[in-house]
Amino acid sequence: YGPPHVVILGAGYAGFAVARGLGAAPARVTLVNPYSYHYFTTLLHEPVARPRQRERVALPLAPYLPPNVRLWLGRATAIDPRRRVVEVEDRATGARRRLQADLLVVAVGSEPLFFGIAGLEERALTVRDLSSGPLIRSTVEHHLARYAAGEMGPEGRRIVIGGGGYTGVELAAELAEVRHDLARATGVAPGAIEIYLVEAAPTLLPGFDPPLVRYVTRFLERVGVRVITGTPIAEVTPRHVILADGRRLEAGTVIWTGGVRAHRLVEQAGFEVDKRGRALVERDLAARGCEGVYLAGDAAAFPGDDGRPLPPTAQVALQQGEYLARALTRRLRGQPVEPFRPHLLGTVISLGRRDGVGLLRNGYRVTGRAARVLKSATLWRYLYRIGGVPLVARVMGGASLQPL
Ligand code: NAD
Repeated sequence: YGPPHVVILGAGYAGFAVARGLGAAPARVTLVNPYSYHYFTTLLHEPVARPRQRERVALPLAPYLPPNVRLWLGRATAIDPRRRVVEVEDRATGARRRLQADLLVVAVGSEPLFFGIAGLEERALTVRDLSSGPLIRSTVEHHLARYAAGEMGPEGRRIVIGGGGYTGVELAAELAEVRHDLARATGVAPGAIEIYLVEAAPTLLPGFDPPLVRYVTRFLERVGVRVITGTPIAEVTPRHVILADGRRLEAGTVIWTGGVRAHRLVEQAGFEVDKRGRALVERDLAARGCEGVYLAGDAAAFPGDDGRPLPPTAQVALQQGEYLARALTRRLRGQPVEPFRPHLLGTVISLGRRDGVGLLRNGYRVTGRAARVLKSATLWRYLYRIGGVPLVARVMGGASLQPL
């Protein structure tokens, strides 16, 4: 007995916001996450260019959680939404335990979607978690060094990024920016390092503002990225990336940024899901047909104004998490709850450290340094909400956070 038990699965933008916002709720809360820290998914590609900045893309969870929230380090391995029972594998012991929730929030995020393309999942690196940036960097360096030593053929100097959406574009710009560092570190001529960005649709960033797409494409071409559009990657072999039009690119490093789907757990739990594995939710983010179960962030398909699900972005996840914290607090107090309403502020895409593009809510376009500053500003704003000025100063000042 005692106060109701709220269980939150995942401490990404959505789950962390729910946990932070439940301080005044008459409940005891368990936040289940595999790691003791929260990372900024929007910055995961940055350590590719700036390997020492790991402490800038993550922060420890515990100092920012209210007293009624307990952090349990473990991985959810199964969800029974009808009975609100979750199975969790404890990180320290490996033992599996069951948790019974009165209210359950599933915010387990997304994973790469490989579309069943032959060889892709086995061969490609992805931008997925804190280890991704350093792994991409070290793989590229390793291949370049072997090429320089004559242990690898021309494929050793070629990087192919599959998927010219937001992640692919940001990553390509980041890699191009460190071309000279990579060259110096490995003894390969800068001009010999080839970065390809392959996009299936007729343009990069399909669906995004056309003038800004042109700006991005020109930027990437200017910094030496070879942009191929209108042709999907059809197959990946140990030495090649094969395009649907028959072209074969010899490639040592293959990075897949071709899209995401909700974490498998959502589909396995038996939620009604869309074709990207996201659970269909009601206006208050409740799972369809499951009492007391809610979904937020990339795990949820919430219809936008055009009827299509909102995109799996940090902005949406954060707003849904903050909404759920308020809504669940009200619910636990027996008060009525309003539906979730997104307030989309726009999209900002970084192009390395000094450039970028942004499309703001009113249709206003920003390019260049101003857009890059805007992207940093969204992080400052986020940090400010979590830990006020001291946290902004600490992260942006580069002083190391508590060890992860
Ligand atoms: P995405 O789905 O936006 O882009 C994937 C791209 O890969 C698409 O353009 C698609 O046409 C292409 N593609 C698919 N199959 C392909 C194939 N076989 N060959 C070549 N290309 C192929 O995925 P993402 O870029 O990882 O972004 C995921 C979500 O995260 C998006 O909703 C995005 O809004 C968000 N995001 C936002 C930012 C930002 O705002 N700065 C940055 C990163 C991600």
